[in-house]
Amino acid sequence: MRLKFWGTRGSIPTPGKTTVRYGGNTPCIELRLSNEKLIILDAGTGIRNLGEALIENGESIKTFLLVSHPHWDHIQGFPFFKPAFISGNEITIVGGETDRVTLQKMISDQMNKIYFPIQLNELKATLKFHPIKEEQFEIFDARVETIYLNHPTFAIGYRITHRGKSLVYISDNEPFDRRVAQSIRNLEKIIVDRYLRSDGDPNQRIFDFVKNADVLIHDATYTPEEYVNRVGWGHSHYLFTINVAAKGKVKRLILFHHDPAHTDEKVDDIFKTCKREIRTRRYDFDCMAAIEGMEIEI
Ligand SMILES: [Zn+2]
Ligand SMILES: [Zn+2]
Repeated sequence: MRLKFWGTRGSIPTPGKTTVRYGGNTPCIELRLSNEKLIILDAGTGIRNLGEALIENGESIKTFLLVSHPHWDHIQGFPFFKPAFISGNEITIVGGETDRVTLQKMISDQMNKIYFPIQLNELKATLKFHPIKEEQFEIFDARVETIYLNHPTFAIGYRITHRGKSLVYISDNEPFDRRVAQSIRNLEKIIVDRYLRSDGDPNQRIFDFVKNADVLIHDATYTPEEYVNRVGWGHSHYLFTINVAAKGKVKRLILFHHDPAHTDEKVDDIFKTCKREIRTRRYDFDCMAAIEGMEIEI
């Protein structure tokens, strides 16, 4: 498999001279299976540039777009994804939904006339919607497993296995703490119950999900000091992130969803601190920080 990062930033795009190296677009990753079949992870603003590149290649598109959750930074690029405007292309949007709002409505509401000039049903490509829960299914010849993360309302993590290699994508996830879950309760109840089922560390289900992955892309939005004042916002501090990688015995960790307030220098600092912590604790995995434009072979 091959990965390309088109957006690495969390929460809101951050153009400007202090973010040029790690990038300012919100989450979007291109995943190519060994037969060149295309899977897209999230439709943050990075998907606009991916769409331009696909059109430049002259490819006719049949793709699956795996959406982690409908927060703006993960869907906002979709109305600017040019392949969706071209007839003959086919895009299957995969993602979670709640009892109150369907997956299709989550995507189409942001294109409601009041917010956007073109409506979802005016797009010329064939659009299909595949709502999912925690389950397993096949896409092309890859196996996909999903997990509910600890993130307000809900977010889904994906594990994609293809020809013996595995990638786990966990863009937005917070350490689950029983006391916080009782007091804040900003998750769907069905998800809270799944975490509370474990007698030990409620995050064990995440550690199990990432087990032995070749690559783990995981939320590393905050420093531990910043996290103290952002409990319940749905994101990790980097010490939790490296703990997930260590507990799951992954081969490579990629720090993702950089905080919009973090400059390139700050992300450098976080990355160096993570490398130091990994050495000190004698953990055995590689660590990188996601960079817009970066390509990786798995
Ligand atoms: Zn996010
Ligand atoms: Zn989110």
